[in-house]
Amino acid sequence: MNLISLASGGSYFHSPAPATAAAIAALQEGKTFYGPTEGTPELRQAICDLYIKGGLNVRPEQVLITPGAKQALFNLFTTLLCQGDEVVVPTPAWFGFHELMKYSKGMLVPLETKLSEGYALTPEALRKTLNERSRILLLTNPGNPTGRIYTKSELETLLEVAHEFPNLYILSDEIYDRITYSRTFTPLLSCEGAKAERIILLNGFSKSFAMSGWRLGYMLGPEEVIKKCTDFQGGTLSGVSVFLQEAAQAALEQEEKILPHLLEVLAKNRQLMQQGLDAIPEVNYYMPDGAYYFFPDFSHYLRRRTPSGDTLATAAELCHYLLKSFGLELAPGDKFGAPGHARMSFAIEAPKLQEALQRLKQALELVR
Ligand code: PMP
Repeated sequence: MNLISLASGGSYFHSPAPATAAAIAALQEGKTFYGPTEGTPELRQAICDLYIKGGLNVRPEQVLITPGAKQALFNLFTTLLCQGDEVVVPTPAWFGFHELMKYSKGMLVPLETKLSEGYALTPEALRKTLNERSRILLLTNPGNPTGRIYTKSELETLLEVAHEFPNLYILSDEIYDRITYSRTFTPLLSCEGAKAERIILLNGFSKSFAMSGWRLGYMLGPEEVIKKCTDFQGGTLSGVSVFLQEAAQAALEQEEKILPHLLEVLAKNRQLMQQGLDAIPEVNYYMPDGAYYFFPDFSHYLRRRTPSGDTLATAAELCHYLLKSFGLELAPGDKFGAPGHARMSFAIEAPKLQEALQRLKQALELVR
């Protein structure tokens, strides 16, 4: 049986043609040498212009171009965190945060949100978790794996609480910002009461522009934080290759031509996955407002037996059964901090997606 994987964080779309053309042109023009660590002035300005268009007052000195958003996180965790500093992360959350934290002096403090409450993060829960050791509050908006988008007013209430803690930075991972369906996305900096000196936005080209292999990300934040991260990046990696940055710039310039197709396909796939999951009894899920994942709760199927007599104790074991017996790969929820769940990407070709959902239904019907 051929393998169908819904486990990847990437997508099957081709990277945008204007980006590829710009990279090739830059290579042919000989742009193959070291560039500025902080990024080319043109790309930094192009990124600022996006936010300026949205009414924000930002300058290129507040932007650092990084080899992927992951590196931006690593830069931040390394330069901001001292021994024992806490990074508060509403969960379920992307497992990469946990991985990255292993290499820093800080510690991750999960703040659980629940499917039964629509993954809402209440100001009360946030206030209870924050303390004087909290250094970073890390929001992911839209969420991976939940697909949850915080409304503007939710963000404003959370900011009010966060700003009560003067040592706290609020890091907003907005890497899925353009992939939205049912709710409007608001960049954290655009919120009423947002203090620019405490907020860092994180973004990149892996998701909205299907450029995960290019390793292109950026962070936008207070100048002194950007300066520290630039020094760290200069001492370890140097700047992102100039020809890649020219590709990123071309992608941004052509954004309005690139995104509609991607969003149209994803919206249809989202509906397909919704229908497929609705056809399976006892599977609950949050209907994603953005990003390209469902994160269903499969708890009903745990502590039951597969046809070969194995008891499924965890989502990881359920995923193992799906993979071995049905050639279907999902990402177990355990590593996102949500046992009993599994992440399913719908950023794959529709026929494969339909086949995957059929296999899932068949596999779960056999669990008793
Ligand atoms: N943040 C989130 C929420 C992600 O899902 C990912 C990729 N899976 C990243 C950051 C890292 O992205 P990049 O490819 O730019 O390193």
